[in-house]
Amino acid sequence: MKKTLLLCFALVLFAAGACPAADKELSGKRRGWFALTYDDGPGYITGDLLALLEKRGVKATFFMLGSSVRARPAMAKNVHDAGHLVANHTDAHKNWFKIGKSADREKIFLSEVKKAEQAIIKATGEKPSILRMPNGYTAPWLREAAKKIGYRTANWSYGSDWTKTPEEKMTAGYVRSVRAGNVLLLHDGGGKSHEKTLRITEAILNEAQRLGLDPVRLDVLLKGPGPRE
Ligand SMILES: [Zn+2]
Repeated sequence: MKKTLLLCFALVLFAAGACPAADKELSGKRRGWFALTYDDGPGYITGDLLALLEKRGVKATFFMLGSSVRARPAMAKNVHDAGHLVANHTDAHKNWFKIGKSADREKIFLSEVKKAEQAIIKATGEKPSILRMPNGYTAPWLREAAKKIGYRTANWSYGSDWTKTPEEKMTAGYVRSVRAGNVLLLHDGGGKSHEKTLRITEAILNEAQRLGLDPVRLDVLLKGPGPRE
């Protein structure tokens, strides 16, 4: 129930950012765009994922953890240099549902985001501007604090690769979610087995091709004629 509520909230948030009333013609939805996003990396499959995306001529978005970037700085650079969007996923994947209730939350938030930002800049030469909190945590104070330091926050429309769902069913869920305007979440890092990320990505791209939809970077999907906040 909590998860469903959270997801709905994320959807509302995202929809508010992606579909401004001012110019629906330019929205990703009308253009048949959707976004592939990968969290927690770079991980041990990131190189294979880059090869797959390159083969299919696709750009994606990677929400990297500062700790993962420090472990694999060359891979973070490869992701960036291949033209994918590198975004901030904080430094250490802390439990924000707990921290969000503490008096120090803004201080910890700044330290977590800045630490990851420094690792990303050191590895890629570019400052990220989109932030996704661990486990999709969001709250008004958080969005306000993110905005103050030049970030917009973005969650996702569909993701299930961290659950115990059998892979076949999981893949079907992703394939069903290939729709204009959607943001799909998968994982290329985090320490667990992520080979299925490659297989599911391939299934998603086959479905997109069948439907005539184009995967784009999140900054492209969110881009519009004016401010989006
Ligand atoms: Zn994560």
